[in-house]
Amino acid sequence: MAPSQSFEATIVGGGLGGLTAALALRQRGVRVTVLEQAAQLGEVGAGIQTAPNASRLLLGMGLRKELEAIHTEPLDQVRRRWKDGSVVGLTSLGQHCKDTYNAPYWHYHRADLHRVLMDACTDPGGPGPVVTLHTSSRVTELDRTDPARPVAVTEGGERYAGDVLIGADGIRSKVRDLMGAEDTLEFSGEMCFRALISGDAIAADPATRWLVDRFQSTIWYGPDRHLVHYMIRGGEYLNIVAIVPCTDEVAEKWTVPSSSAELAAAYPGWDDRVPAMLSKAKDDDVSLFALYYRRRDPVWQDGRVALLGDACHAMLPYQAQGASQAMEDAAVLAEELGAVTADGVEQGLRRYVDRRAKHAGMVQDASLRNKDFYHYPDGPEQRERDRKLARGFSGESD
Ligand code: FAD
Repeated sequence: MAPSQSFEATIVGGGLGGLTAALALRQRGVRVTVLEQAAQLGEVGAGIQTAPNASRLLLGMGLRKELEAIHTEPLDQVRRRWKDGSVVGLTSLGQHCKDTYNAPYWHYHRADLHRVLMDACTDPGGPGPVVTLHTSSRVTELDRTDPARPVAVTEGGERYAGDVLIGADGIRSKVRDLMGAEDTLEFSGEMCFRALISGDAIAADPATRWLVDRFQSTIWYGPDRHLVHYMIRGGEYLNIVAIVPCTDEVAEKWTVPSSSAELAAAYPGWDDRVPAMLSKAKDDDVSLFALYYRRRDPVWQDGRVALLGDACHAMLPYQAQGASQAMEDAAVLAEELGAVTADGVEQGLRRYVDRRAKHAGMVQDASLRNKDFYHYPDGPEQRERDRKLARGFSGESD
């Protein structure tokens, strides 16, 4: 592998995808500048899971000590029926993942995972050149007058040139627009409540104490909606992801304020344990937004500009794989760019897209198919699904 010390990359977007790419490139000797539109780098207050595919990559980047300090490990994943909470399927995670995949299945607070990546990017003692992070830097233009040195231009007029420019700027990617890529955004017809519930509040109430008995990742399946919950920060919070059909107001506004009462009322007729749990959220900790995704699209590159993460393969969160796929992108991007000098960047990007687009597209498609699989009305399809869940099948990714 050729060293890349002379080579500069600009990454637009300092989310989990952009920072993982920055760290992976840094470790290959690439000089990286990250441009982030927000005034402060950080993540939303919510949980995130990394299945073994992503955990393995993060551990391979030398983050074991840091991740061990912030992770929570679920013992298994439980699948419950909406009406009575009966268990229709159980998949071992915990030790089983380590034994089978040689990598763990872990949960985190997003802000903790983001901070670990940011610290590793900026640690002067780490391998490779320290990553330069600029906040309050919204990219609004690309200047490609010199195709060998694409320039990101911010709304304040600052110009950042590099040998390669990566758009890791999320589902509504500006870099994608500026590249002239097709508009592949789709509305799912569904909306998502996110909430964090205090672990102490859950432990104090006999109606919800069952949740702390075991650290499980749980999915409840019901007609046209589902519910996911799992502990993060060792039980400090229960993370809630609640997916229901979208109202016209949310579809129009993308995101609106919500409340625990609205969240609990979104599951009428469900097992009593569901409203008992959801009503414990504090109103300030409940957010509500419409769920969009991108259609599969193999065009991730134009010359020395390429896309990564949600910018190219935003998917429904029905396999918990969006950030994990962005991390896979980051690892492959760094392998390919780490193996070339500045002259070979375009070929390196082409190999990155060749290695990633098909796989990420398959995960996008499977996540979309889970929209039906998770939401069957009670009847023959639901019974057949529940039989599959009982056999260990976990969804359309299997
Ligand atoms: P983003 O996280 O969107 O980051 C993009 C960054 O770019 C942002 O910081 C933004 O401010 C910045 N930006 C945007 N435009 C500009 C601009 N013009 N100039 C400069 N900066 C810009 N995935 C998992 O792997 N596991 C899970 O458990 C999981 N759970 C999920 C649960 C829910 C409810 C949802 C909705 C998603 C979930 N995902 C999960 C998916 C995951 O959150 C996303 O796929 C992932 O965060 C995408 O990362 P990204 O870096 O590509 O984009």
